[in-house]
Order: sequence, then structure tokens, then C-alpha cells
Amino acid sequence: AKDNGGAQYHIYHTDMYQRVAHRVMMETEVRQALAKGQFSLSLQPQLQTATKKLCGFEALLRWNHPEKGMISPDDFIPILENSEHMVELGYWVIRRCFEISSNLQRSGLTDVTVSINLSAVQFIDFNLTNYLKALLEEFQLPASCFELELTEQTLVKDIERAIECMQELRSIGFSFAIDDFGTGYSSLAYIKKMPVDVIKIDKSFVFGMLENHADYQIIMSTIAMVKNLGLVVVAEGVESSAQLRSLAENDCDIIQGYYFSKPIPEHDLAEFLDTRIAN
Ligand code: C2E
Ligand code: CA
Ligand code: CA
Ligand code: CA
Repeated sequence: AKDNGGAQYHIYHTDMYQRVAHRVMMETEVRQALAKGQFSLSLQPQLQTATKKLCGFEALLRWNHPEKGMISPDDFIPILENSEHMVELGYWVIRRCFEISSNLQRSGLTDVTVSINLSAVQFIDFNLTNYLKALLEEFQLPASCFELELTEQTLVKDIERAIECMQELRSIGFSFAIDDFGTGYSSLAYIKKMPVDVIKIDKSFVFGMLENHADYQIIMSTIAMVKNLGLVVVAEGVESSAQLRSLAENDCDIIQGYYFSKPIPEHDLAEFLDTRIAN
């Protein structure tokens, strides 16, 4: 038994070592990738369910690695989550979102918002508020052009500080969405405590909603509850017309998903908007 314990410790140790090494490598690579312009954003349309009118875009980070090809944000953001590099990359994302919003405003799409995903380290960073204020000034945009997406994981780090930060940003006009709603342990506590505007139902519930009774019920009760609280409800991961119809019948405010559009690379956005407005 003793030997066994030793071996287990060894395995654990090696595994931990490898994880740390991988993280250090990632961090260095991210810094270089930023300098070399390997990051970009893709924008996924959000539509008003009732009218099918375009009402926003969620900005999703893309890393085009010269050797490894496109790396999914799920493969590098969690690794960077606790590092300064995530803060730096996050600031880059925010600035790009201001540039994109500025272009949307210039094209006359004044009520189309840009949703920005914020990670935990970024959200508790003391410079975030000042950075956002400075960008509003620089770009001459109202904060209502943006929505800030937080997950329960983001919030759990330091809840008191998170609330303070949200209140300050809301007082200057930013709105907040809780992302991946329903996947954490305390969704209902958050909805009560947090000064939020929008709830995004996680796509894992939407995928099977028409086959799985529990998923269907969870979605429909969430929609009803969110609306009774006077908040806006978004369903993400909508892939079929049947899902869309069911969500529309149950008064889900906004939908986002492959059924309408996959995330659109920045450089294809103008073309997307042209065809959309032409229609
Ligand atoms: P998320 O914030 O939950 O974003 C939604 C994800 O669902 C995106 O994956 C999107 O492409 C995908 N999706 C949307 N509609 C559908 C659909 O109908 N079917 C399917 N199968 N998937 C759909 P993506 O772009 O790979 O991003 C993964 C995650 O990475 C995001 O999940 C978010 O947590 C994180 N992320 C992306 N960009 C950023 C960023 O700029 N900052 C931070 N902190 N996190 C980001
Ligand atoms: Ca999101
Ligand atoms: Ca989500
Ligand atoms: Ca997610």
C-alpha cells in the first residue's frame, strides 16, 4: 500500500508538472501571438425572436496559429484564466469590440449591441472600469452599445467586489448578461443578488430540448422566471427551426445559434451586413 501511495504521488506530481509547463508555454505563445496579430474576433448574430430582427453580436475570440491552425478559445482561455496574459488579451478583445461597434454605428445599425465575454481575472482587475471609460471617450460611443457577459465562475471569485464593479459600470450605462445560465451550482442565488439585465440559457439545455423532457421544462421555467423578474432572456445554441419555433411560442426574447448563423469572421462582417440589409 505504501508503494502504491508513492506511485500515485509520483503520477500526480508529473501530471501537475506537465500542466504547469503547458501553461507557461501557452502564456509565452499568447504574448507572441498578440504581437504578431494572430488573434481575431468572430461575431455571432443575436436576433429578436418575435421579429427576427438583428439586435446584437457576441464577440468570440479566435486564435489563428501559424502551425496549429485555428485554436478554439475553449482550449486556451481556461489555461490562461489566472494569468496576467488573460488580462492583456482581454483588453485587446475589448478594444476590438469598440472598433467593431464603431463600424456598426457608422453603418446606421445604432441599436445593434456588441457582447463582450469577460473572464474572472479581467473582471476583478482594478483598471477595467477606467479602461472602459477611456474607450467610451475615445470612440465617442454610449455604453449602451455594449453588453458584458459574465459566467457564474467569473462572479464567484470575489462576489462583493463583482457587485461593486457591476454597479459602477451599470451606472454609466453598460448592461450585464449572465452566461451559461443553469450550469453552475447557484444560478438562482446569483439572479437574486446580481445587478443583471440579461440571462443567457446555456446551449447544453437547448440542444436536446425537444427530445428531453427535463431540458424542455428547465428552459420553459427559466424563460418564465427571467421574464417575471423583468429581465431579458436569450437562448444560445439554437440549431433548428423546431427549436426556434418552440422558443418563440414560449416568449424567449432573443435567440443565438447556428440555425441563424455561425460566428462570422470579422473580415466577412461587412458582406454579411450588406446581404442582410439588402434582404
Ligand atoms: P460562450 O461564451 O458560451 O460562447 C458560445 C459558444 O457557443 C461559442 O463557442 C459559439 O461558437 C458556440 N455556439 C453558438 N451557437 C451554437 C450552436 O448553435 N451550436 C453549437 N454547437 N455551438 C454554438 P466558441 O466561439 O468556441 O467559444 C467558446 C467559449 O470560449 C465561449 O463560450 C467563452 O466562454 C469563451 N470565449 C470566447 N471568446 C472569449 C473572449 O473574448 N473572452 C473570454 N473571456 N472568453 C471567451
Ligand atoms: Ca458568452
Ligand atoms: Ca454561453
Ligand atoms: Ca461556455
